[in-house]
Amino acid sequence: MISHSKCIKNLSTEWLKNHCTTIKKSKQAHAFLLRNCLFDHNHAVSKLVSFLAISKSGDLVYARKIFSQIDRPDMFIWNTMIRGYAKGGNPSEAVSFYHIMIASGVVPDNFTFPFVLTACGRLRAPDMGRRFHAEILKVGLEPDVFVLNSLIQMYANCGSFDAALKLFDGNPLRDVVSWNAMIGGYVHVGFYQEAFDQFEEMTRTIDVRPDTVTMVSLVSACTQLGDLDRGRLLHSYSKELGLAMDLQLGNAVLDMYCKCGDLASAQQLFDEMRQRDVLTWTSLISGLASSGCFQESLVLFRQMQWEKIRPDEVTLVCVLSACAQTGALDQGKYIHLLIERCGINEDVMLETALVDMYAKCGRIDFALQVFDKMRVRNVFAWNAMIGGLAMHGHGQHAMALFEQMKHDGMMPDDVTFIGVLSACSHAGLVDEGLKFFSEMKELYQIQPRMEHYGCMVDLLCRARLVDHALAFIENMPIRPNSILWATLLGACRNHGDFALAEKIGKRVIELEPDACGRYVLLSNVYAGANQWDDALKIRNQMKSKGIEKTAGFSWIEVNGMVHQFVAGDRSHFQTEQIYMMVEEMCRRVKLDGHVSSTTEVLLDINEEEKEHSLYFHSEKLAIAFGLMNTAPGSLIRIVKNLRVCNDCHSFLKVVSKVFDREVVARDRSRFHHFREGSCSCMDFW
Ligand code: ZN
Ligand code: ZN
Repeated sequence: MISHSKCIKNLSTEWLKNHCTTIKKSKQAHAFLLRNCLFDHNHAVSKLVSFLAISKSGDLVYARKIFSQIDRPDMFIWNTMIRGYAKGGNPSEAVSFYHIMIASGVVPDNFTFPFVLTACGRLRAPDMGRRFHAEILKVGLEPDVFVLNSLIQMYANCGSFDAALKLFDGNPLRDVVSWNAMIGGYVHVGFYQEAFDQFEEMTRTIDVRPDTVTMVSLVSACTQLGDLDRGRLLHSYSKELGLAMDLQLGNAVLDMYCKCGDLASAQQLFDEMRQRDVLTWTSLISGLASSGCFQESLVLFRQMQWEKIRPDEVTLVCVLSACAQTGALDQGKYIHLLIERCGINEDVMLETALVDMYAKCGRIDFALQVFDKMRVRNVFAWNAMIGGLAMHGHGQHAMALFEQMKHDGMMPDDVTFIGVLSACSHAGLVDEGLKFFSEMKELYQIQPRMEHYGCMVDLLCRARLVDHALAFIENMPIRPNSILWATLLGACRNHGDFALAEKIGKRVIELEPDACGRYVLLSNVYAGANQWDDALKIRNQMKSKGIEKTAGFSWIEVNGMVHQFVAGDRSHFQTEQIYMMVEEMCRRVKLDGHVSSTTEVLLDINEEEKEHSLYFHSEKLAIAFGLMNTAPGSLIRIVKNLRVCNDCHSFLKVVSKVFDREVVARDRSRFHHFREGSCSCMDFW
């Protein structure tokens, strides 16, 4: 009889160890233990409690329920419960549970204290920690290295470095964990120099060697500081120590390279890593996206899909922003599908990223659908939607949404007003814009930033109120930047006010002598007035200072692939056909009576060449590619990183007519819907 029961007990212990992996299976195990009268065997039950209290997919409430059914829980079970609470959402429960334990007459051991000390560290409660320290001294557990390290960790995490150092300095017990506690504590509160100093001392100590925990702390300090040089040194030092293959350390180093902007090293490390998890992929995808390599980040995401690594919310927010930047609508839609199918948490960040992506990819209708379905909307969500409507020139709708936002009790912020003011500007709503501008200052006490002034100058200039705009700039309480002057200058030029344009043009270059756009503007003023000598002089001035023109990029997505073009690009695999298509477009546009306006090409070249270089602006190449590779009559969608030039704008209007294609182009500031020879912006942009 006895041997039979012993047999069941052994069997069940083994079985439980492998069986308690989910809540559902734990419930089965619970029933099994009750059925076989094994609930009094602490050893068996402790497996169940361990899983529920400690593992990530456990359930502390359920663990507590089981605990209360155990007649005489042993030390291990008590400690397991305390450990679970200390790691859980409310660490103070660990301390309460400790007191319950004491009240039931159980004496804490060298495992109990580290867990309650962890709770104190997480609660940042050094006084409570000090009380436990006194009890530890009373029961004589301070010479235990596990207890000692927990004390150091607790004091360091609470920022009580004096107390931590008192225990740490010269202590013969200290090991690598003690060092890590000190270093990690310093990094945690931002005392980076102290952390590096401590590490220096550690490397001089003979009997201790840094491990991956040490290196992760230090590398993350470099990330915070943006200290690439030191980060690199630490990376090569970890290789020397043979630690470089650790996944967590690899992720930390990769993140450091990405955030410090060294993408080449990041890419190289990524390729070398034998093991990669979702963090690894997300780091590099986000690193690429935040340094403007959107196309590369999308390619990497596709590779991640092939390798069947499940993305998380952070990855998807990142990828959606890359889609938004390059107008990759199909890939954006695919991600939307992925979110719905895979049951990825629809948090407000992710939904906002979807709204933003759809708006920037030209599907304001989809953006509105997602926005309408959102159950929780924070200010970022409202801002994305209002900003999106503004870009599409839906001024009235944006204003209506702004009213609804206030009605719903959501407080608008400075970004909301940038959206609202630019909505007024794109829709030519001058009075409304002026009203919102004063509402912002007086009702919401928001100090206008340069962007808000920029919107106002833009608004006045588009409405051809150049004198008002000039007065507005001169009365600003902060010093106007060169972008404001440049907006005004553009307006003067369009209205043929040459004298004022020249004056402002010179002023703008004084303000920002390193920005290429400013030189281009002034020389365009001269070119527009056929003063080619002056135009040339400015161009040479720019050249002699070594200022390069910002490259214009256009992107087009065809069959889920994003193609990128720069002016005069010959790198595409279909280059020959694309250029033939451009010739064909020019021929047919010319037949329709379109004459290129060459005034925007400030160059020391003759008329014919001037016209030729205009042909190869990146948006024309992208459109040519689109015409070749999409079905007749279907819509063509492109994105450009700069403002579309006058010539391309009128060219695209004619293209939409003679090729019978609707073209949607997003430039730096808004959307243009070209249809049957005209544009939705009504030539205001
Ligand atoms: Zn152009
Ligand atoms: Zn337009």
